[in-house]
Amino acid sequence: MADNLNSDMAQAFAYMSKSSVLNRLYAAKLKQDGWTLHSKLLRAIARAEEIHARRTLMYIRGKIGDTAEYLEKMLQCKHLDTTRNYPQISEQLNETGNKKAAEAFGQFGDVAKVHLHLLEKVIEQGNHDSINYYVCQICGNIAMDKPSLKCSVCNAVPEKFKIED
Ligand SMILES: [Zn+2]
Repeated sequence: MADNLNSDMAQAFAYMSKSSVLNRLYAAKLKQDGWTLHSKLLRAIARAEEIHARRTLMYIRGKIGDTAEYLEKMLQCKHLDTTRNYPQISEQLNETGNKKAAEAFGQFGDVAKVHLHLLEKVIEQGNHDSINYYVCQICGNIAMDKPSLKCSVCNAVPEKFKIED
């Protein structure tokens, strides 16, 4: 496939992903304000955009491949996120005085470390039905038990952790 076409599709993927997140945020705001039908439609559109993004990714990256290989690659990505990518962005944001965003990327780096640890654990232990994952809706931290304490990364209250089915 031509390079520019591939880059157009990558841009479309980024747009779809961003748009679906924005639509979910506005859907929540509309719901709060009592605009239930508008909210429902934005959520439906967000879902559609997620489907489009997933299908676009398939054309950019090729079909879903070997899962063991994928998990191995994910370990490397999470390692780079925690040791290099997010800390670097956080540092640059700090230097430009953007303290809030710097703090967020600092948290993303800490969370990537947790993700890395959980991935290593699941790869080592294999399939396990009895484990549940609880995701902090503020920073993305993941706990394996229902948290009774504040989030270790962002200090959110335990109620901010939602179980992933
Ligand atoms: Zn958190």
